[in-house]
Amino acid sequence: MAAKRKPTTSSGNKPAVGNDAPPRDKAALRDVRRRPPAVLRGGNAVSPGVAVGRAYCIRDIFIGDESRPLDDTAALRELDRYDAARERTAADLKAVYKKVLDQLGEQQASIFLAHEAILHDPAFTAKVRTWIVDSKQAAPAALQRLLGEYTDLFAYTTDEFLKERLADIRDVIIRIAGHLNETERSDEAAADEAALEGEPNILIAGELVPSHVFMLGDRDVVGIVTETGGRTSHAAILARSRGIPAVSGVEGVLQKAMSGDIVVVDGREGVVLINPDYETLTAYRKIQREFVHLRDQLTEHCDEPAISACGQKVQLMANISGVADAKAACPMGAAGVGLYRTEYLFLTHPDVPDEEEQYQNYRDAVEASPNRSITIRTLDVGGDKKIAYIGESREANPFMGWRSIRISFEHPQFFLAQIRAVLRAAAPDGRPKDVRLMFPMVTTVEEMRKIRSFVHKAERQLVERKVPYARVPVGLMLEVPAAAVSIDVLLEEADFVSIGSNDLVQYLMAADRDNPKVSALCEPLSPAVLQVLTHVIATCHAAQKPVTLCGEIAAMPRAFVLLFGMGLRSFSMSPAFVPVVKELLRRLTTERADAILKQVLKMRTTAQIIRYMDEQLQEIAPNLAMLGS
Ligand code: PEP
Ligand code: MG
Repeated sequence: MAAKRKPTTSSGNKPAVGNDAPPRDKAALRDVRRRPPAVLRGGNAVSPGVAVGRAYCIRDIFIGDESRPLDDTAALRELDRYDAARERTAADLKAVYKKVLDQLGEQQASIFLAHEAILHDPAFTAKVRTWIVDSKQAAPAALQRLLGEYTDLFAYTTDEFLKERLADIRDVIIRIAGHLNETERSDEAAADEAALEGEPNILIAGELVPSHVFMLGDRDVVGIVTETGGRTSHAAILARSRGIPAVSGVEGVLQKAMSGDIVVVDGREGVVLINPDYETLTAYRKIQREFVHLRDQLTEHCDEPAISACGQKVQLMANISGVADAKAACPMGAAGVGLYRTEYLFLTHPDVPDEEEQYQNYRDAVEASPNRSITIRTLDVGGDKKIAYIGESREANPFMGWRSIRISFEHPQFFLAQIRAVLRAAAPDGRPKDVRLMFPMVTTVEEMRKIRSFVHKAERQLVERKVPYARVPVGLMLEVPAAAVSIDVLLEEADFVSIGSNDLVQYLMAADRDNPKVSALCEPLSPAVLQVLTHVIATCHAAQKPVTLCGEIAAMPRAFVLLFGMGLRSFSMSPAFVPVVKELLRRLTTERADAILKQVLKMRTTAQIIRYMDEQLQEIAPNLAMLGS
C-alpha cells in the first residue's frame, strides 16, 4: 500500500480525517443521507453490474504532522497512543489468526503467527518508542520512518532472511498505523453500524491489496471502488472472479466518501454515486435487483452445454487462484480449469511452499475438477504481484523487467520443485489425469527450449526418486508481442498455446494495465490487437496446436463474439462469467460471428469497432447488456 501523506489540518497531529468520523447512531446515519450527493464519472468499469451499499473506506495510514516536533507532554501522550495501538494490533492478529485457521487452515494462518512475532520483536518497537521520546516524532511519522528504513535496508541487503521478512513487516506496520489513526476502527464501526441496519458494504480503497481479500470474505461486500488500477489489474480480476461490481481509477473518491455514506457502484458505466437523491437511489436499486435476478437466472442454466445457436461446441473453462476457486468452478458450469494462477499459493504463504506443499495443493485442485482438464501455470510474480521473498526488487518498469518465467529461470531449484509438484499432481493415485503445464511470459524460442530442458530434468529426478508422476503437455502463455510475431516457430516447441490477452494488450499498446491514466489505450478492441489475435489463432490452427484464450476479454461479450469469429473454440475466464458467456453463445452463429469479424477487421479506429459491436450485441443479446460489454 502506498505510504502517501494526506494534507494535515490546522490541529497539528490530529488526523486529517478527524471530521470524517463516522456516524455513531442511526440518527447520524440518517444525517449522512442528507449530505450533498456527488457523482464521480470517468472510472474504469472493471467488473459489471450495479451495487448499492454503505461505504467502508480503507484510507491511507500515515496521517499526522511530521514537520512539527512534539513537546514533552505530547510525546508521552503519543507513546501511550502507540502502545495502545500495538495492543490492539496484537489482539487483532490473534483474532485474524484464529479466523483464518478456522476458515482456510494452518498454512494460510501461519502468516499471522509470523506477524505476531514481528510485533513482539523488541528491536522493532524500541526504535519507534525512541523516535517518539527522543526525537519527539508523532507515532505515525515514526512508523513511516521505520518502514522507510526497512525498505531501504532490504533493497540492498543480501541477507535472504531479512528480505523474506519485508512484506510481513510492512503489513504489521500498516496494521498498527491503522489503529493509531483510529481511521480503520472508526470506518469499521460505521460499517458495522451499517451492517446492523442490514445493509451490505461498498469497499472503497486507494488500491486493493491481497490482505483486503480476507476482508471480502469477512464482510458482506457487494461493490468495490478503487482510486487506482485498470481493467486487468489483479484487483479487478479478483472482483470479477467473485461477481462483484467494481469501478477503478476513481480519483479522489476517498476524499468525497465517508464510511457510512450510501454509495452506488455502476460497474457498467464506470460511475460512482455518493448519497444520491431518493429517486436516483430507487432507480439504481431496481437495476441492482434486475442484475442479481439475471445472474441467478443464468446460473440456474449453467449445466447446459456450451453450444452456439448453430450447434458449434465451445470449451468454456475457469481461471482460478486456489483450490476453493476450483471447487466453485464446476458448479458454475465450467468445463475445466484453463488457468490456475499458482502465485496466490505463494502470496499467502509465510515463506516458500516446498514441493510437498505445492504437490498437495495442485493435487487438491486436480481432484476438485474431476474428469476435467486443468492447466497449471508456473509462478507469475513481478509486475503488480510482489512476493517479498522472491522477485522483490525495485525496478523502474516492473512489468517489463524481472518477472514471471524470468524469475523462475534464476531460481532453478525452486523452479524444478514447482515443475515436479505439478507432474506428481498429474498422477496423484498413479493414474494420469488431464493436467497441462503452462509457462507465463515466454518471449523467445530459446526460453521455450530451456523450459523443455527443465521439464525433462524434473522428470528424470522423479524417476530417480521413484515417485509416481505423469508426463503432461507443455505450453506457453502468449502475452509478449515478440512471441506473437514468431508464434509459428514457438509452436515447434510447444504442445499448446494460451493467449494471455491482459498482458498482450498492455505490451502491444505500451500502456500499463494498472494505470487508469492510459486505460483508454490499453484497449483490446483496437485494430492492432485484433490483427495480432487473428494471426495467432490462425497460425495455431494451421499448425494443429490447441489454442485457448485466458485473459479477461474471454468474458467480455464484444471481444468474445470477435474471438469466436476468429475460430477460437476454447476460452478460460472468471467462473462467475461462464453462465453469461454460455447464454451469449446460445444466441450466436458462426456465420454471424464471421460476418461481424470481417466488418470489424476493415475498421480503422477502436471507437468505430466498439460502436459497431454494441449495435450488434444489442441485436444478438440485449438482455446481457448489464452483465458487461
Ligand atoms: C494474462 O496476462 O492475460 C493472464 C491471464 O495472466 P495474468 O492476468 O495473471 O497476468
Ligand atoms: Mg499475464
